[in-house]
Amino acid sequence: VSSQAVGGLVRRLGPRARLDQPLGPLTTYRVGGRAAVLVELESEAEFPALAGAVVEAGLEVVVVGKGSNLLVSDAGFPGVVVTLGESFSWVDTDPAGPAATAGAATTLPVLARRTAAAGLAGLEWAVGVPGSVGGGIRMNAGGHGSDIEHSLLSARIADLLSGGVREVKRAELGYGYRRSDVGPHHLVLSGRFELRRGERQASDRVISEIVRWRRDNQPGGQNAGSVFTNPPGDSAGRLIDSCGLKGFRIGSAQVSDKHANFIQADPGGSADDVRRVMESVRETVSRETGVMLQTEVRLVGFGGWLE
Ligand SMILES: Cc1cc2nc3c(=O)[nH]c(=O)nc-3n(C[C@H](O)[C@H](O)[C@H](O)COP(=O)(O)OP(=O)(O)OC[C@H]3O[C@@H](n4cnc5c(N)ncnc54)[C@H](O)[C@@H]3O)c2cc1C
Repeated sequence: VSSQAVGGLVRRLGPRARLDQPLGPLTTYRVGGRAAVLVELESEAEFPALAGAVVEAGLEVVVVGKGSNLLVSDAGFPGVVVTLGESFSWVDTDPAGPAATAGAATTLPVLARRTAAAGLAGLEWAVGVPGSVGGGIRMNAGGHGSDIEHSLLSARIADLLSGGVREVKRAELGYGYRRSDVGPHHLVLSGRFELRRGERQASDRVISEIVRWRRDNQPGGQNAGSVFTNPPGDSAGRLIDSCGLKGFRIGSAQVSDKHANFIQADPGGSADDVRRVMESVRETVSRETGVMLQTEVRLVGFGGWLE
């Protein structure tokens, strides 16, 4: 990284820009190296200055939410990592909508529980996804027969290249299965969801069932959920299992014994081991079944995405 570029950024942003920060603790894998610069945005008013400084520095930028779908390389990320502060964590429920609006740093489980408590149905599935509203909007997170696209009305999105902020309707977001047109230079600030009038007890029952199902079927520990997306008409976990890869290990990383589409990292483990397991699984599944799995987990600092 050019120290001149970093110096310029620090001059413009002051103590907001923190140098050489560890990224592992910001992710659920809890492995990987450091970011050259980490900036936590505290309010939308600060955004134009951040965007201007990033453009002027010419550094690569990545937004990190709850880090539950990210693997950061052991070498770290030689650019600017942007995160959202606590002030972006809020939920406004609107029974008349019926709708809810949430800040992008709100966790999806909190959104699920707050809307259910307000008698609004439709986001119960989100209780099982440990990401943020912003990460969920970008990834089109989903489960249990639903996803973000299903209820999102619009998202407030800031553009790190132009410095502009605008409310973007769902139809303009290019949604597909676990994908959207929200790009690396976009920062989601909030999302507005169209919900149904429901009953608190009914939603709470669904939430409890989902929590129980997750506990029974998914491993705990250091992972980022499903590593690969499901190919059309099949399940990535089933394909990986059919190749006898449950428990397959390289160094400090292994395919979960509980769910074949999860890769676990050992405490103090290495991101490069996780990536090696990912590549090895992909090669074996492709050789033995003819299906080339696509990565759902986003790779940061590996010199380009693995997709
Ligand atoms: C145990 C476990 C279970 C999981 N189960 C599911 C599941 O059932 N369904 C599912 O879909 N996913 C699942 N996931 C994956 C993950 O939780 C989702 O992809 C989630 O939406 C990621 O949100 P995040 O805030 O953690 O994003 P991050 O991991 O921080 O980032 C993911 C991507 O979103 C971008 N991003 C993050 N925040 C923003 C923002 N504010 N603005 C713009 N871009 C942003 C990042 O740059 C990156 O490209 C699971 C993960 C774990 C660990």
